[in-house]
Amino acid sequence: MDHADCIFCKIVRGEIPCAKVYETDEVLAFLDIAPVAPGHALVIPKAHHVNLFDLPEALGGRLFAALAPVAAAIQAATGATGINVQMNNNAAAGQVVFHAHLHLIPRREGDGLRLWPGHPYADAAAMEAMAQAVRQAIASGR
Ligand code: 5GP
Ligand code: ZN
Repeated sequence: MDHADCIFCKIVRGEIPCAKVYETDEVLAFLDIAPVAPGHALVIPKAHHVNLFDLPEALGGRLFAALAPVAAAIQAATGATGINVQMNNNAAAGQVVFHAHLHLIPRREGDGLRLWPGHPYADAAAMEAMAQAVRQAIASGR
């Protein structure tokens, strides 16, 4: 289940050191080497899965279950008063390491980090057409 050349698999195998903060049989969390803010952590499945699209449902559930306790601990340790959970899936979304991982990014009021801007739909019909396209994709299993 692990990949010889994958950097996060190497971390799981102990071949590359990491600043570990949490571990279960299936999940590992460690500090990001280039944090958005100190305490920024990555929560990963120990098994190699590329991203959201090939993550088994039960494992995704266990990954998600780790988020709240690790996020709460990061808040306690850093004094942050909020946490962003971010997952980049595929290169177009900024994924650089192709072993599934969730970012936990500690936040505080006025820290200046800007999230993505919103661009409203042209009108209600355009929004409904998009919803229809997504519903059709779900119905056809895509
Ligand atoms: P992505 O853009 O794929 O979601 O983010 C990958 C993250 O992994 C980046 O934030 C990067 O700093 C982090 N990272 C890459 N290599 C290593 C490493 O060897 N050790 C640790 N701790 N983090 C890493
Ligand atoms: Zn891997």
